[in-house]
Formats: sequence, C-alpha cells, structure tokens
Amino acid sequence: MAKILLNKSNFFHNLAVCSDQAGGKEKVSIVLKDNAYGHGLLEIAQMAQEFGITKAVVRTVKEAQKIETFFTQILILADIPTTTLAHSFHITINSLEDIDKMGAGANIAIKVDTGMHRHGILPQELEACIYGAYRKELNIKSVFMHHRSADTLSSEYFWQKDLFKGIVEDSKKICAKLNLPEIAFHSSNSSALFRNNNFSEEYCRIGIAAYGYLENKSPLKVPNLKPVLSLHASKISTRVLSSGQRVGYGGTFTAKEDMSISTYDIGYADGFMRIDPSVNFTVKGGESLLGRVSMDNISVSGQSDEICLFDDVKELANINNTISYEILTSLSADIKRQIVED
Ligand SMILES: *Cc1c(COP(=O)(O)O)cnc(C)c1O
Repeated sequence: MAKILLNKSNFFHNLAVCSDQAGGKEKVSIVLKDNAYGHGLLEIAQMAQEFGITKAVVRTVKEAQKIETFFTQILILADIPTTTLAHSFHITINSLEDIDKMGAGANIAIKVDTGMHRHGILPQELEACIYGAYRKELNIKSVFMHHRSADTLSSEYFWQKDLFKGIVEDSKKICAKLNLPEIAFHSSNSSALFRNNNFSEEYCRIGIAAYGYLENKSPLKVPNLKPVLSLHASKISTRVLSSGQRVGYGGTFTAKEDMSISTYDIGYADGFMRIDPSVNFTVKGGESLLGRVSMDNISVSGQSDEICLFDDVKELANINNTISYEILTSLSADIKRQIVED
C-alpha cells in the first residue's frame, strides 16, 4: 500500500530550530490545520507534544477536538462553535459580527486585518470589538495579525508590522481601562519568525517551517530545515513493454526498446498530482515516471517492489508550478502515515 513516512528526527530538528529562533518551546505554537499540512493531524500532534510544544493552531472545532488532550491551548482560526467548548480552545473573531455569535464565557482571539484584507476586524474597529467582547463576557486571550508577504523583501512586512505595533498599544490601553486581564499578541508565521533575530512576542504560529520548508526569497535568510514527509508506493504489477508500445492514457510514452515497467498504487486521487508528460520526472531510486499519472496509479520504469515518489517536495512543486503547501495538503488523509526514527 502507498504510505507516508514521517521522519521524527527531522521534525524535532525543525522544532528545535524554530524554538531557538523564538526563544523557547513555549513560544512556539504549531499550526496543524488541514491535517497538519497533509502530514497527519494525530501523528504530528503527538510528536509535537513529545517535543514539548504546548500550543497548537487549527482551522476547525472538529480538528481541535481531535487533538484536545495534546495541548494546553488551541487556537481555532475559522469556525464559530455552536456549543460550549473546552477552556483550552480560543476562537478567532474574524469580524465584529462574530462577537454576537459567541456564547458568554468563551475564549476568543481577535484577528486584526493589517493589510491582507482577507479577514479580521479593521484597525478602526478595535475599540468596538473589545467593548463588544467585554459586554458579552467573552475572555479575550489574544490579539493577532497575519503577514501577507513576509517571505519577500519589500516594505510590506514593515508597514504591517508597524500597524500592528499601534494595535498592540491601543489594545493594552483599552483593556487597562476595562480592567481586563493581560492578553497575548502574536503576528509571526514561519517566514516572519526568521525575519528578525530578537523575537519578543508571546508566541509565533509556525506551520511550514516545522514541516521542513520555508519559501523565503533571496536575500532573506533561510534556516537549515529538513523535510519531514516522504511519499512511497507499492508495486501492483510488472510487465514488459515492447519497443514501440505505449503506456497509459493517451499513450504519451513510447518505449524505444523492450523494457520492464511496473505500475504502483498511487495516483492523483491520492494527491499525487498529474505531471506534464513532457517533463522528465524520476523517483528517488532513479526510475522514470512513464506517461500520464492516472487516478489510482502510475507507471514507472524497472521493477522495484517499492518506490519513493519524493522525500523533498520542492522539486515536484517546481514541476507543477505551485508551492510545497499545495502538494502537501493535497495528500489524501486515507494514505497510511507511519512515524520513523532514523
Ligand atoms: C496558516 C497560518 C499560519 C502558518 O503559516 P506558515 O507560513 O505555514 O508558517 C500562521 N498564522 C495563520 C493565521 C495561518 O492561517
């Protein structure tokens, strides 16, 4: 069966690099949304806990419930609950209307739109938001923002950061006036964390760097990270393709001589995207992908029992003209995940 191997030493290495940069394990919140970027929610949550990470970020309440026992704090980015939730859950307020939808006593995290213009309250709505939360007896646990271009050297990172600095000051003033307990402020994703060397916020929200990738563009610093996930497939059958015979849909590959080929149990339905047949893609053992990727299988030269499709997704991301995130999160949750220690 096709399987995903998760390299625990590499994951721990990345968490150590991020924790060092942030100034401690308690300053790192691991982002586990979308099945932990395709890696496997439970497997990654369990390893992160073992490493000593106590905070996580997810997209939905359902995801948070699955990993409730692993962390002391779970930030839910985009899901308004209809029932009372565990005290460790912090629900993101993405607009003023969200305040009305929350039940009294809930823990909230206020997201402020500092320039991404996707979601979050507007800076000028900050006071109304905090007062609204106060009147509804919601517990404000944090105020945060998200960078839109921290991976590129431009003014954008700086003006968003400056805007947030003002938000932090204003929040503190408003909360002091209302006698509210102290709240945490956080603005950094992976690329922002590595943009400066004196991280001073309560915590950062680390996704892609924990999984071993950071797409910061030159001349920005790129830390030494190690990919965690590798994708493997097993042989279904082997046959000889005679010279002139073609393989797969459209017959886009023609054998130039008699050759052994094998079919493996992975395809685009599993998240292994179709590759332009004019591109030469070879698997880790050096065998070539032949013809089109099918829904449930691929054909490859040779007759190995197992093949490794990739142990670093960057090459495939380039070939598919996309980013590592997209390929990783597309991997089917049904593929078996196995943790390996090397
Ligand atoms: C996904 C996400 C992150 C993590 O971003 P990376 O670039 O993968 O580190 C952090 N914060 C928010 C709000 C997110 O949606």
